[in-house]
Amino acid sequence: MKKVYALAAFLLVLLKISVCFAEEGAGFKEITLKPFDEVKQGQTIFINIKTPEPLEDPVFKFKNKKYRLFNLKENEYTGLLGINVLEKPGTYKISMKDKTGNLNDRAFIKIIKNDLPSQNIKVTKQMAGLTASKRELSRIKKMKGTVTNTFLGALPPYDSPAEGCVNSIFGLKRYYNGKFSGNYHKGIDIKADEGVPVRAITGGKVIFAEQFRLHGGSVAVDHGQGLVSLYIHLSKIDVTTGKQVASGQKIGEVGKTGFATGPHLHWGLYINGTPVDPMIDWIKPVKICM
Ligand SMILES: [Zn+2]
Repeated sequence: MKKVYALAAFLLVLLKISVCFAEEGAGFKEITLKPFDEVKQGQTIFINIKTPEPLEDPVFKFKNKKYRLFNLKENEYTGLLGINVLEKPGTYKISMKDKTGNLNDRAFIKIIKNDLPSQNIKVTKQMAGLTASKRELSRIKKMKGTVTNTFLGALPPYDSPAEGCVNSIFGLKRYYNGKFSGNYHKGIDIKADEGVPVRAITGGKVIFAEQFRLHGGSVAVDHGQGLVSLYIHLSKIDVTTGKQVASGQKIGEVGKTGFATGPHLHWGLYINGTPVDPMIDWIKPVKICM
């Protein structure tokens, strides 16, 4: 429970500017969005709600999709919204509701273009022949659909999961041998020597820890409440599926297994299945070596 309270406290500190909705009658309802006005493609929105009355099954809706708001402590709720890096810029509505009717509010947020550069990757014949197996595709799908009740982590910002420098940022348009792959980079790459420890960014439970064809040695960790982290191309895996991991616990070692040109850690952070930029709000500043 301590961690949950700590998360709530963190959110309150982080949410510097509040969007408040005053209600008639006893007490006030306070709804806070961080950021509250503009958000970049690929960025995370932190939602915090304090109400005078308890809520029942509170949810928020974004683009016709419902997401859960989680109970932090008495009459306080939180939710995370990951903005897709390909989301069309414009003004969007976030509506919030619950079964009692105590929550029936909306907020508007402007999504702005995140001008991300392109990156060309020299793909070897051997790499070009690599495709994802059915098994790894189903595991990734399961990972993206993982939303559990309890937050198992500590407060961001976290330490980088591996010591090294970032040589590929989030959201880059990926070209393979000069041709657009149709993909964008769904995480960050941390360049490091083979064998450098890879650590869980914060506490959680291992969704899978397996060797895959395309992703290589892979570990996915469920931190709870829709937050999941993925670590791939590992040369060694130190954890097993279903195991609880502590913040900073070694889960494996940097490698170049799967679709990789050299040793590095590809680290992805997902919110309700949407990859977000982990370098905005989630980790402490890291060295860039692009
Ligand atoms: Zn990568």
